[in-house]
Amino acid sequence: MKRSVLIVGGGPAGLLLASHFREHGIDYRVLERGKIAQAWRAMRPGMVLLSPAVPGTDWTSLTLRHPIWALPKVRRPFPTREDFLCYVEAFAREQGLNVVENTAVTRVSADPGGFAVSTTDGEESCRFLVLASGASTAPAFPDIPGIARNPHVVHSCDFIHCAAYAGKRVLVVGGGNSAAEIAIELAGTATVSMCTRGPVRYFSETGDLEHIRGSSESVLKELFRFGIIRMREDDPVVSVAHRRVRYRNGDEHEYDWILCATGYRPKCIPLEGGDLRVDPGGYPAISAVGETTVPGLYACGSLARFNRRCAFIHGFRNYVEKVFWDIADRL
Ligand SMILES: Cc1cc2nc3c(=O)[nH]c(=O)nc-3n(C[C@H](O)[C@H](O)[C@H](O)COP(=O)(O)OP(=O)(O)OC[C@H]3O[C@@H](n4cnc5c(N)ncnc54)[C@H](O)[C@@H]3O)c2cc1C
Repeated sequence: MKRSVLIVGGGPAGLLLASHFREHGIDYRVLERGKIAQAWRAMRPGMVLLSPAVPGTDWTSLTLRHPIWALPKVRRPFPTREDFLCYVEAFAREQGLNVVENTAVTRVSADPGGFAVSTTDGEESCRFLVLASGASTAPAFPDIPGIARNPHVVHSCDFIHCAAYAGKRVLVVGGGNSAAEIAIELAGTATVSMCTRGPVRYFSETGDLEHIRGSSESVLKELFRFGIIRMREDDPVVSVAHRRVRYRNGDEHEYDWILCATGYRPKCIPLEGGDLRVDPGGYPAISAVGETTVPGLYACGSLARFNRRCAFIHGFRNYVEKVFWDIADRL
């Protein structure tokens, strides 16, 4: 049976898009490789979101018609990862969204009039296909000699708890949100250093969302001042040999662990029969309504970079509706 729409990914964007199709009686199905919001399940337990969620300033809810803050016991103003997971689950279940879990899309073929989609559970076909598979599908490591295949190097996505690093010398590479939060969590348990490849700006000084440094900028700054976290600002690692790290200024130090909090990249699903153009960061080139360079194939959510704010829910939630209306108009 050829469906009108298949959506790859049951994260916030895929579910929000699915809710529009359900509301308008359009035949759709969401294919999710894990459980609903799998990417959030893989995040650190207890993590606090950076986007506020209170009446009047809600940057976290999928729609303002279903606000997360209306759920009982949700942490305010910043919910936890667990609050968010409960909310997303409730959003999907209460609306009876058609989500097939534990089904990964492995290959797509653009055929006349639609797409043939191979999954871990068999074959599907559709007229329109939407990639809502997220921007954080593959951990990104810096391109520094000695990082690849080094057993002392880990990625921030594998950091669960500071206890695993007790008494160790840890270098956190990066100055973004994950780097800041992990360094704070390690402080006092491990001997922590942090290094950035450029100067560090702060949200409190610039008001730019790109300059948020985790959920507690003031704590981070205090830990620098006390010397509990050794900060090497604008002094990047240039090479690594086993545990030994060499910095741009010529200093060399040994660490037990080198923890790369250096972000993620989207991972492309293999596609035949079409020319899917992507930018150097791995994001598909899209039109003003989210259509990729393959006719009928759309990108949605954090994978669809209409602008840089689309990395976050409040940035992409209105664009999800644009994708919906464009497909609905063509059906
Ligand atoms: C550490 C961290 C903290 C963050 N904190 C915030 C925050 O506080 N506030 C905020 O707004 N945003 C935050 N973000 C960004 C957040 O990821 C996005 O806002 C949001 O989750 C993006 O939704 P999405 O649906 O586009 O992608 P995702 O949430 O990544 O969902 C994509 C889904 O697609 C599934 N999938 C992928 N490939 C396939 C496949 N081949 N077949 C089937 N399914 C597939 C995945 O399993 C996943 O469930 C954070 C991101 C990270 C990494």
